[in-house]
Amino acid sequence: MARKNAYSTWPDAPEENEAPAKACALCGREAELVQHHLVPILAGKRKGLKPQDLPTVELCAACQQYLHSTFSINELATQYHTLEALRADEQVARFVKWVSKQPASKAVKAKGREEFPR
Ligand SMILES: [Zn+2]
Repeated sequence: MARKNAYSTWPDAPEENEAPAKACALCGREAELVQHHLVPILAGKRKGLKPQDLPTVELCAACQQYLHSTFSINELATQYHTLEALRADEQVARFVKWVSKQPASKAVKAKGREEFPR
């Protein structure tokens, strides 16, 4: 049997001490995440709340962009200020289903509810 060191061409295993991979709270992709304010900062301000007092979730840029291009600040603040409400929305669910199949490395542009293929 020929001695072949197959291992030498393999990429290194991920470092154990790296920051744990985090996934988008909506689509579950492991992408670069941004803090999404479930209650928009502007809406919080109107109630005298500081940004750091508002609930946030970690979303990928595509999901966050989608929410902000689809819903008004008022809608986000009154109807979509929980993950449950967002997930329950039919449009959001359709977007999430689509975007979850996109590679995390690919920049997904979500400019509105009709901008992604069905
Ligand atoms: Zn996402």
